[in-house]
Amino acid sequence: MTVTSESTTFDSTNPATGEVVGSYPKQTAEEVREAVGRAEEAARWWADLGWAERRLRLLDFKAVLTREARSLARLVHEETGKPVGDAALEIVLAVTHLDWAARNARKVLGPRRVRTDLVTLNMAATLEYLPLGVVGVIGPWNYPVFTPMGSIGYALAAGNAVVFKPSEYTPGVGVRLAELFRESVPEQPVFQTVTGLGETGAHLAGDPRVKKIAFTGSTATAKRVMAACAENLTPIVAECGGKDAFIVDADADVAAAADACLWGAMSNAGQTCVGVERVYVVDAVYEPFMKALREKAAGIKAGEQYGPITMPGQLDVIKRHIDAAAKSGKVVLGGPESVRAPYVDPVIVEDVPEDSPAVREETFGPTITVRRTRDAQEALELANASSYGLAGTIFSRNARRATELARLMRSGMTAINSVISFAAIPALPFGGVGDSGFGRIHGADGLREFARPKAISRQRFAVPGMNLTSFTRGEAEMERLLKLVTFIHGRRKR
Ligand code: NDP
Repeated sequence: MTVTSESTTFDSTNPATGEVVGSYPKQTAEEVREAVGRAEEAARWWADLGWAERRLRLLDFKAVLTREARSLARLVHEETGKPVGDAALEIVLAVTHLDWAARNARKVLGPRRVRTDLVTLNMAATLEYLPLGVVGVIGPWNYPVFTPMGSIGYALAAGNAVVFKPSEYTPGVGVRLAELFRESVPEQPVFQTVTGLGETGAHLAGDPRVKKIAFTGSTATAKRVMAACAENLTPIVAECGGKDAFIVDADADVAAAADACLWGAMSNAGQTCVGVERVYVVDAVYEPFMKALREKAAGIKAGEQYGPITMPGQLDVIKRHIDAAAKSGKVVLGGPESVRAPYVDPVIVEDVPEDSPAVREETFGPTITVRRTRDAQEALELANASSYGLAGTIFSRNARRATELARLMRSGMTAINSVISFAAIPALPFGGVGDSGFGRIHGADGLREFARPKAISRQRFAVPGMNLTSFTRGEAEMERLLKLVTFIHGRRKR
């Protein structure tokens, strides 16, 4: 990405070659306001289309995306530098999520009767989840299709219009997604993309007509976005990356664990919010695990299995973390010389103190720290001692024990005997705790995130002598109510 100070456009560039991929407008406050205005009208039209028609349109969009997967993957490759195959994989995942959201929106959000109790026996109660209106999506560059589509697809399925501000590193992908959507929904601008730098995102977050912001990016920017949203009491869902731990228990399949660990850490050059960054290995399998990891890592090289670092500024962070780790720990693979801009070869360092920035801060590069632990309990305690809490991994042959550890892991998601698998299961919610953010995309929770519950109670008949919400209520009615409530709730159970 290159910008000239007075330009009203900016270029997206191929991070591997520096070539200009495309030029896009830096959309102003006024342009964002106009887009939101159009979206407000489109939102009403889209909501009125109803569940069945929206489902058809979204399934059609899914088909368009699928048919365009190859050309879109090429564009993702050009703007991010990642291999075309990896780009295609994220598109396939986005397609499966869109399919799930389209097919399940009505079931999850549509009107349903809910039960009443003995005290409200004369009532009928219904619950439904209504669209919010306009949803603003602020997206990242690391998975420029999969990540924003996790918000966009679910927000659209819930009946909202979307205004999407892609990262300044991947504007072309953002623009293309909205273009493809128009093939399925040409009547109204239900899904628009606005391009620009952080400022354009700030205009979107600050517009009071935007009813929710779905943000993916750094914790620091999430705080700024949240502060802007606070002005209008606009709720946000924040997905802010992590420092995910990978635990290898004593009974793990060591070869499989090493293989998964390597891919989870190095694929996409480590630029994955749920990528492996910290590895804790139980003493009993430490040596065989490290041997397997070293052997497998030896064949992995930047520019071959994975691409360059997309955001040039990130190279400084990665370099700082590698330097800190190399100074205080024992380098197993690579080292400071692994940073050869715009590429970074795999780096593995063991015995890095837990207070090192390499262990505490998000690196977002193809590097890991590995530490030997007494047992899985110690590994879990170290894993949980992080301000982040996005995801994590546990390798163990004992499904019960692994599930127990997964529950105790302070994270929104945990994969057992696989990495990142939760992201590929559309029914599972995606999101974190602590500095990793809050709120959920994907699954039923992801649909509800972009809707507001509407509760309706209807009195079917009056109960004689039990008009509790009237100034005519007397002591006798209150006595009857207390007797009834004591009968229902007053018995102590052990
Ligand atoms: P940012 O958090 O700065 O950017 C994320 C998105 O927010 C981009 O679209 C960005 O636009 C936009 N933005 C920036 N400033 C504002 C603002 N004031 N108001 C509204 N929107 C804004 O992340 P970066 O891309 O700079 O990456 C920095 C670090 O964040 C990475 O090194 C990584 O650690 C982490 N990260 C985590 C991701 C995850 O998956 N959770 C994804 C990406 C990054 P623009 O690009 O135009 O600045």
